Amino acid sequence: MEQSMRENKADNLQKPCLPGVIDSGAMEIMRTMEKAGYPTYIVGGCVRDLLLSRIPHDWDITTKARPDDIRAVAGKAGWKVIGNVGESFGVMLIKVQGTVYEVATFRTETYGKDSHRPACVEHADSLKEDLQRRDFTVNAMAMDCRGTLYDFFDGERDLKNKILKTVGKAADRFSEDALRLFRACRFLGQLDFMADSSLVDGMGQAFPRVRGLSLERVRNEVNRLLITPHAARGLDLLVRTGLAAQSCQVKRNGEYFPVPILPELTHLVGLPQMKEYHRFDGWYHTLAVVDAAPLQLMIRWAALLHDVGKGMPGVRRVEGNRITDHGHDHVGAQMAEQILRRWEMPEKFIHHVVWLVKEHMRFHYFANNPEANPEKWIRKMARDKEFSSSHEMAEAFREMTDLSEADIIGCGYDTADVSGHESYGQYVIQLAEHMPVTTKELNYTQKTVETLKPYVADGMKNLLLRVQNGNLKNQEGTLYDAAIRYRRRRDAQNH
Ligand code: ATP
Ligand code: MG
Repeated sequence: MEQSMRENKADNLQKPCLPGVIDSGAMEIMRTMEKAGYPTYIVGGCVRDLLLSRIPHDWDITTKARPDDIRAVAGKAGWKVIGNVGESFGVMLIKVQGTVYEVATFRTETYGKDSHRPACVEHADSLKEDLQRRDFTVNAMAMDCRGTLYDFFDGERDLKNKILKTVGKAADRFSEDALRLFRACRFLGQLDFMADSSLVDGMGQAFPRVRGLSLERVRNEVNRLLITPHAARGLDLLVRTGLAAQSCQVKRNGEYFPVPILPELTHLVGLPQMKEYHRFDGWYHTLAVVDAAPLQLMIRWAALLHDVGKGMPGVRRVEGNRITDHGHDHVGAQMAEQILRRWEMPEKFIHHVVWLVKEHMRFHYFANNPEANPEKWIRKMARDKEFSSSHEMAEAFREMTDLSEADIIGCGYDTADVSGHESYGQYVIQLAEHMPVTTKELNYTQKTVETLKPYVADGMKNLLLRVQNGNLKNQEGTLYDAAIRYRRRRDAQNH
């Protein structure tokens, strides 16, 4: 059947691929399975990435063989069967040439009550049926061991035009599995594609299904989207279509609670800003900053939320033709904290992002206030134990430098110059690296500890504070001398 399909669509489907680009383990699986009489293909993301001349990060394989047949071929070929990914799905993990591959039986899926998982999965006889259940045309292509492409839904055309389109009617496909809405956003960012208008038009109908998605799944997709090279594309779809304003759910103590996704971003769309500083409205500026920021989740989150406080009641002031948002950094930090807590992100992650949002105007403030004292600011930060080590503090300053530079680029003017912020960044990073946050980071020796006895804890704290205040150098000899003086003072007080 596969053979006749290939012949019928000979011109359309036969696209030889460059030799050697298909991974050799995947090749071995396809060749061996085919010899045993089972048509077998690489499929989905790896085919898409091959055609885009990208290196696929994994190789999914689909085959006409049923699990028992796969097992039998694997046994003869000497491959190790690692296990199944859900027996009913017929997806098996097979180790070949040292790499684990997912080998799945052709299958079809039908959807029911669940917002993501199919109600019924059945084995299918043809490759076409298997491709038909896939989300987007560019993800619904397969290739055999000869490099022949099987493309029933014009995925290759959409790939060339950089268009993301669903296989079949968008509203139906999104309603089957609402997570595809978020996958669509992610693929726009990952592939630098445009969403087909049919895809955008079909989204809204599936929104009621979003509330049945777990926070974990939504968070995973949005986090993945955020660290894509063209995240702005996906974020724009997420927010403008109203998807960000929907809620998913989280289960706590056996009960489900709604979790609003990111409704706080909606008000930024079209939010006016002062033209002399900003070429874009609040939302486009945010998107530009996200795309200009490095592909690190923490900085990308901070970029997404850095101006979320702008335009909020009590923040925005309009006087004549002047617009100001004084305090948006502080209000934004509070909003960021609420959002990330709701998203159940790790504590340390929340702390860093909130700090970045709160401090994102800091270099700007330094640059515009000659009396500002960065050193004093860092000393206070160390005393307040904002970070648990000087290394962590220096790392936060590095992130802050990246964010500040992205913020300047995101203003949209060609004249943007990040060199000032870059030098502030280098300066504060250096200061932080030499600023102890805990007594462990003092350069003391055992001799100093002995000297401080019986006041070791207080004495070390005293030394730390004086180093942080700039009254002592963090050097062995200096700390030892100071310890002698401290001990004498304490002894004198006690007599
Ligand atoms: P990536 O490069 O990010 O891994 P991918 O296309 O390989 O992208 P996966 O999530 O690994 O994406 O899924 C593999 C393939 O399985 C997809 O290409 C698609 O064909 C299919 N697929 C995955 N998730 C879905 C889904 N929710 N609905 C329909 N098809 C899906
Ligand atoms: Mg994949």
